[in-house]
Amino acid sequence: MHSAELVGAIQRGLSELVTHADELRDLDQALGDGDLGITVSLGANAVIEALDAIPAESTPAEIARAAAKAFANANPSTMAALVAGGLLAGSKSWADVEDVDVSAVARFVQAAGDNIAQRGKTQLGDKTILDAIMPAADAFAAAPDGTAGLASAIDAAEKAVVETRDLQSRRGRASWLQERSIGLQDPGATAMWRFLQSWQKANA
Ligand SMILES: [Mg+2]
Repeated sequence: MHSAELVGAIQRGLSELVTHADELRDLDQALGDGDLGITVSLGANAVIEALDAIPAESTPAEIARAAAKAFANANPSTMAALVAGGLLAGSKSWADVEDVDVSAVARFVQAAGDNIAQRGKTQLGDKTILDAIMPAADAFAAAPDGTAGLASAIDAAEKAVVETRDLQSRRGRASWLQERSIGLQDPGATAMWRFLQSWQKANA
């Protein structure tokens, strides 16, 4: 996937993702402050707009960097900062990439997850977005091509999201609930799963 195709795919995927904003808001309301719906919809729309204005000769890394900047500036939440940092880290893994293939996607998602783990001081099982990102990265890394990679990343993320219900939240506002967080589905992990699903649906 080259730059022009990448821009269109991101924009279509994010247009679809915003249709899940109410679900993300409701999940975040149960576990946190309910701002995730706003963070995702403002961020997604800002990225769509920024990519409308990006020069045609931009590389995939420059596209990802522009997306990171737009997402961060759209909304001042912790999640927006973490996601933007992840996108920025992903963009650095694309220094020489002109054609985004499944191995480039795997590297990007892994770099984004590593960055989020480090900056968010979080690890797998803490019941955060990381719980869906890391299995998705592994799924892309093991897949023969992008279509198969996306399908298996969606399955892996969905499984991880279901598993978050049995976990206790250990990071962010949700951790204040302590054991009362058990039984509730993690909104951040759900956002990653919905993003992957939206990308597939919008670009089929
Ligand atoms: Mg929140």
